[in-house]
Amino acid sequence: MKRLVLAGAGHAHLHVLRTLGAARWPGVEVVLVTPYPRQIYSGMVPGWIAGHYRLEDCVAPVLPLAAAAGVRVVQDVVCAVDAARGHVTLAKGGRINFDVLSLDTGAGLAMDEGLSDHPGLLPVRPLEPFVARWEQALATLLDDAQARVAVIGGGAAGVELALAVAYRLRRETGAAVQRVTLACGGGLLPGHAPGVVKRARAALARQGVELVEQRVRAGTSALETAAGTPLAAAWVIAATGVAPPGWLAQSGLALAPDGFLAVGKGQQSVSHPNVFAAGDVASRIDAPHAKSGVYAVRAGPVLSGNLRRALAGRPIEAYRPQRRSLYLLATGPQEAIVSWGPLAASGSLAWRWKDWIDRRFMRQYQSSGEE
Ligand SMILES: Cc1cc2nc3c(=O)[nH]c(=O)nc-3n(C[C@H](O)[C@H](O)[C@H](O)COP(=O)(O)OP(=O)(O)OC[C@H]3O[C@@H](n4cnc5c(N)ncnc54)[C@H](O)[C@@H]3O)c2cc1C
Repeated sequence: MKRLVLAGAGHAHLHVLRTLGAARWPGVEVVLVTPYPRQIYSGMVPGWIAGHYRLEDCVAPVLPLAAAAGVRVVQDVVCAVDAARGHVTLAKGGRINFDVLSLDTGAGLAMDEGLSDHPGLLPVRPLEPFVARWEQALATLLDDAQARVAVIGGGAAGVELALAVAYRLRRETGAAVQRVTLACGGGLLPGHAPGVVKRARAALARQGVELVEQRVRAGTSALETAAGTPLAAAWVIAATGVAPPGWLAQSGLALAPDGFLAVGKGQQSVSHPNVFAAGDVASRIDAPHAKSGVYAVRAGPVLSGNLRRALAGRPIEAYRPQRRSLYLLATGPQEAIVSWGPLAASGSLAWRWKDWIDRRFMRQYQSSGEE
């Protein structure tokens, strides 16, 4: 019997679970290490904050999926990988040996020191504690009409979250008061076309989001901009970009220049052929691409196929990620901005498209977990 260890229930591993649910792999014991019994789908979180979704709509139930797949779940986190000896160490103690290891743990959050001291800090990763704390934050924001929110990070997640929060506060209170600031020292939506940025600026203005195009740091008593202007915020949502998980550096696995796990054409570690990775934790050194859920989803089928091939001692298959991906950015009300290479569009049809894609994606896990 060979053992496959899956670390993390990210997008690609959900696909592996679904594949195993359809047909088990003979002679293979599969163990999933995951800290949470469910996986929250980030793409629908801004829509949940805006009030368009219930949390259940945005959640893939990991335990029923694993049960249907015959996969043993260990509710814990991998805190170390010893690639040479072939085992992972768990945070609560103990080790699990593997013949083949697959990592889909996502990334950590890149954050300036000092920001983490803010009492109202809401880091967007991991999503599970973020979602729990946002519910507390919303209650206090509805109680105190003076309380403000700062969102730090001008990437797609930061923009969507700032718009969702502003829209929700206006919808709940009926007051058109400016209570949300979006701080983006690295620019607004870097990597997106000018037409997308223009539409995002217009959406931020419509929702009354103050845009501060400067870095924000922790001042002596509160947040302040790089120019030294204080930034009042009871709650600070940190959507500050990705960082490699700390345990990767000691794993003995070859890393890409950005510090993430270096994988090649079959999502296989370039240093250890029995280790695979997909999603934000990995960087394709032969075909670099942005870290986003779209790529994690697309890697699922190839990862699944290659894990099975590796376990059977068969050659792995190559996979070329798409060169560019479609982004549909929710803008607060049931509207979205389409970003596809140089193309931009926006409106309620774009939201309906996004909603259809997201719900369809979630349904495949929500229904297969119940069967
Ligand atoms: C608010 C928000 C909105 C976003 N919207 C979009 C979008 O619309 N489209 C898009 O393409 N991208 C979007 N992204 C980016 C997207 O969330 C990530 O790129 C994507 O989640 C990466 O998927 P993944 O499979 O690598 O891992 P994740 O989805 O991060 O899942 C990893 C899982 O592994 C668990 N885990 C972490 N560490 C360990 C460990 N050591 N051991 C075991 N388990 C572990 C985590 O808790 C988590 O459950 C958004 C991000 C945010 C924050």
